[in-house]
Amino acid sequence: MDTGTETLPRRAEGGFPVVGVIGGGQLARMCQPPAVGLSLTLSVLAESPTAAAALVVPSSPVGDHTDVEQVRAFARHCDVVTFDHEHVPEPVLQALQDDGVPLHPSPAALVFAQDKLAMRARFTELGLPCPVWAAAHTTAEVHDFGERVGWPLVAKTPRGGYDGKGVRVVHRADKLADWLGQVGRPGPLADGILLEQAVDFRRELAVLVARSPSGQAAAWPVVETVQSGGICTEVLAPAPDLDDELAAAATEAALRIAGELQVTGVLAVEMFEVSAAARAAGAPAYLINEVAMRPHNSGHWTIDGSVTSQFEQHLRAVLDLPLGETRPRDRWSVMANVLGGEHPQLYPACRHLLARDPGLRVHLYGKGVRPARKIGHVTVCGDDLEQLRARARHAADYLQGVIDE
Ligand code: ADP
Repeated sequence: MDTGTETLPRRAEGGFPVVGVIGGGQLARMCQPPAVGLSLTLSVLAESPTAAAALVVPSSPVGDHTDVEQVRAFARHCDVVTFDHEHVPEPVLQALQDDGVPLHPSPAALVFAQDKLAMRARFTELGLPCPVWAAAHTTAEVHDFGERVGWPLVAKTPRGGYDGKGVRVVHRADKLADWLGQVGRPGPLADGILLEQAVDFRRELAVLVARSPSGQAAAWPVVETVQSGGICTEVLAPAPDLDDELAAAATEAALRIAGELQVTGVLAVEMFEVSAAARAAGAPAYLINEVAMRPHNSGHWTIDGSVTSQFEQHLRAVLDLPLGETRPRDRWSVMANVLGGEHPQLYPACRHLLARDPGLRVHLYGKGVRPARKIGHVTVCGDDLEQLRARARHAADYLQGVIDE
């Protein structure tokens, strides 16, 4: 590590633990305010001194999350270790486990968030509703799957994908020749390509729950996530006009996943609400897309819109503290992501918005502005959903430089 270990915190005074987070992105950054509130010490293994979390967490040694010795040295100063992302390699996790480091979630659970093929196989075994899927290693297998479920199909890299990177809509088997060439070689396609039927969905939903090591669990209301070009742009909490039975079934499924996989910390389950036409043809009401075992973009609204935010809940859960109430504070919360755009000088834009809309909550991550990079989010809460959506959209567009008034 660049920073000497002497800069890492020792056990804090008063018995308050040190929570280590591997990865210094915005999720680790947003854990800092509730850590302050609970008097916990965060320590972040950051990618660089200017990583989003390193800018706000005093103990942010710079280190490489793929280097066993660097991660072990970091973990020695932490009471528990959790994650900002899914990319810590299995041998590193194994070394921490062998050292007796309390890891939340455990590597045995985390694998289902790291590897979409492992996730599909396990969920199918548990009888959870998934799109029709298969693992493919050859052009013939892709072709056969397409003929069986219909073209186009959706192809995914099992590991390492995010924000739609690693997802392709494929109309012909030969369009995957480049990916098939990587199957069997070390890398995200080593075990094959995940193929899925293209789900005919009405909209995308997400269920956020938290589970602690002693088994206490809590769920927030089911939300609607709006995606554009594979990136989540807007979250509506709760999902408008959601059928009560579907909400209950989706929440039950997420809690069941948390229990069966022994997830500790926050778990987000992304789902498709199946279209009325597909349901009439016999499809289930919802299908599970994927899971994340950490605070998730679909839960950013909870900072301003829920009694307990997902970031505080994650800290509570990984420490096995009692979980906080998940009740929404308002009828509706709308969150819009701010993507990098035309405003390299965000501060003047931010100042304008604070004056224009005093109810607006702005959260910026201290990240450099690059096109399509998530650099912040805004949230508004209240009673009039359409008005809230317009306010959130306006603020995000203004920060992105899409509009100038
Ligand atoms: P990532 O890990 O990059 O977020 P996802 O698996 O969530 O990838 O896929 C990104 C987006 O692609 C989803 O939000 C959804 O809009 C679309 N998508 C993924 N799988 C399917 C599918 N089987 N059918 C239809 N659309 C899909």
